[in-house]
Amino acid sequence: MQSMNDLKRRILIIDDNSRLHADYRKILEGEKSREETDEDYIGFFGTAHLGADLGNSDCEPLKGLIKIDSAMQGEDGVDMVKQAREEGNPFQLAFVDLRMPPGWDGLKTVEEIWKVDPAVQIVICSAYSDNSYTDICKRLGRSDSLLILRKPFDAIEVYQLAVALTEKWILGKEALLKREDLEKIVEQRTRELRQASLIDPLTKLKNRTGFNIDFDNAVTRSKRSGTRVTVFLVDLDFFKDINDTYGHPVGDALLIEVSRRLTECTRETDTVARLGGDEFVVLQPDVESNYQFRGLLRRLEEIQKVPWKFEQWEIGISFSIGVVICPDDGANTEDLLKKADLALYRAKKEGRGTSRCYASGMDEDVAHTRAVYQGLQVALREQEFMLHFQPIVNACTGKLFSFEALLRWVHPKHGMVPPDQFIPVAEETGIIVPIGDWVLESACRSALLWPEDIGVAVNMSPVQLREHHDVVSHVTKIVELTGFDPNRLTIEITETTPLLQQKYTIDCLQKFQKLGIKIALDDFGVGHSSLSYLQSFAFDKLKLDRSFVSSKFSSSKTRAIMKLVGSLGINLNIPTTAEGVETIDELKLVQQEGFTFAQGYLFGRPEPQEELSKYFKTNAVQLDVFKSAPTGVPCQILRLQLPDVSNPESSHG
Ligand code: C2E
Ligand code: CA
Ligand code: CA
Repeated sequence: MQSMNDLKRRILIIDDNSRLHADYRKILEGEKSREETDEDYIGFFGTAHLGADLGNSDCEPLKGLIKIDSAMQGEDGVDMVKQAREEGNPFQLAFVDLRMPPGWDGLKTVEEIWKVDPAVQIVICSAYSDNSYTDICKRLGRSDSLLILRKPFDAIEVYQLAVALTEKWILGKEALLKREDLEKIVEQRTRELRQASLIDPLTKLKNRTGFNIDFDNAVTRSKRSGTRVTVFLVDLDFFKDINDTYGHPVGDALLIEVSRRLTECTRETDTVARLGGDEFVVLQPDVESNYQFRGLLRRLEEIQKVPWKFEQWEIGISFSIGVVICPDDGANTEDLLKKADLALYRAKKEGRGTSRCYASGMDEDVAHTRAVYQGLQVALREQEFMLHFQPIVNACTGKLFSFEALLRWVHPKHGMVPPDQFIPVAEETGIIVPIGDWVLESACRSALLWPEDIGVAVNMSPVQLREHHDVVSHVTKIVELTGFDPNRLTIEITETTPLLQQKYTIDCLQKFQKLGIKIALDDFGVGHSSLSYLQSFAFDKLKLDRSFVSSKFSSSKTRAIMKLVGSLGINLNIPTTAEGVETIDELKLVQQEGFTFAQGYLFGRPEPQEELSKYFKTNAVQLDVFKSAPTGVPCQILRLQLPDVSNPESSHG
């Protein structure tokens, strides 16, 4: 009952009978006028003096709290209500007589009161039975704050009404205040949540939703101003590997550092956002010249080059960037983002660490990839793949050493599809993982049918190492399942991606070696950092790419590389294989440079399993040039016995 005690209750009496005003005062304020007798009192209220009934304070809870005001006419009463409200000290309750000639009647008065202050509680005092409660409610349009009191009044009834209705008013007021408080809190929270829903919690950059809003606004503005909007879609290269290798805290630190650098090279009016994962976007609005967007693109490319240091590591990080310009490339934001994505995709495909602007035709490229990918899914399901095997022989003796398994797709419509036409798509889409599993298992099963000293070499895409969750146990399982001796298995891995520098990859390769599997570095010489690979991992074999062997591409440079790789093998004591040997002259050169093994059409083309039996009669390739070689002498020694051919043109032109 705290609220009852706190507040003065303001009650208004509107009645044309002034004597009644006094009666109300006596009952409610508890003061008996000296001039009047108890008889007068009873005369109006038709009941005994209030004091007889209300003897103690429990029955008069509002003692001293009620403040009565009165008016003789409705108009005056309404004015008082208005004034009280304006003064911030409103009436809570009004007793209104129904008949008050010559002015407004009670109902009109109540209507006007509620126009001024709809919260005032009303008691209509009526001596007549002709105004039914329902009629009154209908006329006033509400019944919630309205009671009817019939004359003659009962003092207790009046008192109870005053207590109950003023209390109701107070409770209503309190509820309203609480609701307003709640609404304010909800509003504030909603504002905060809306703000938070636009922000990426890790980097504190805008998120996709936040970006979309800025992008829409920028495009709308550019339509009006005739300026352009540039969108740079930035994606980290090999982020997953970094996360896997160095752990998530380093991954997070990297994302934060990327956001910092991106923000640093933009202006305040640009938007930098994180769309998710390792994908960022930079929005440059109000572009007036190519110079402007090229400048930002250059800055974005530059920030990659600053060393990236996290904890004790310095990590090689690069971005790929897809660029789209509005309205040149379109004006629909959704369409523009798709195009930026295509440009990014192209940048990734063409070497990473680089940027591409959108150009028409990029869509077709993607459509082609999609079609090939779907074809590969069918091929896996319908078993359209097969393996061909190409012999690898001792470069000096022609003795059969192993076969390389080479994948073929026998397409029901297009016939034999060479791997160069689908392996890149398979790698890009990740479907190389199940395909690679199939290759490994089929190769092991085929090799089980060969003589026991003949090995098999299987190509493994770096993507398999990267995408395969637990490639090592998977390979182990396949080897166990087929019962193939892992010592006869070589995995050839290309050096064309920087993956080989990553700790995780190296770990996998070392585990393969522990199983007895040999690891060959394929296409050696083609990549840019071949030599650094040799430092990071102890390869079992090096395969010189065929472009350095074929006399078709012969130049003093390719010859020099061949010579270099030959002696590298000798000095590091790593067996070397020369690929693509097609002619006797090429073989002689290969022998002369000290290569251990040779592979190429000269010894045999890749062929299906059924065609291999011819090799197994002697387990060697028969060529005259091998006959002249002293049997059992390794080429490394042979090399010393042969004259040095320093001018390739003169001897092999
Ligand atoms: P690679 O690993 O360098 O395989 C050698 C390629 O050289 C094979 O092409 C082979 O047919 C070809 N070749 C061999 N000797 C000669 C020759 O004397 N002259 C010429 N001009 N070419 C010769 P192929 O079978 O078309 O394979 C191309 C590439 O596809 C392979 O290059 C390899 O990178 C990839 N590949 C093939 N099979 C697989 C596989 O099962 N998995 C993966 N990941 N990649 C594969
Ligand atoms: Ca190979
Ligand atoms: Ca190769």
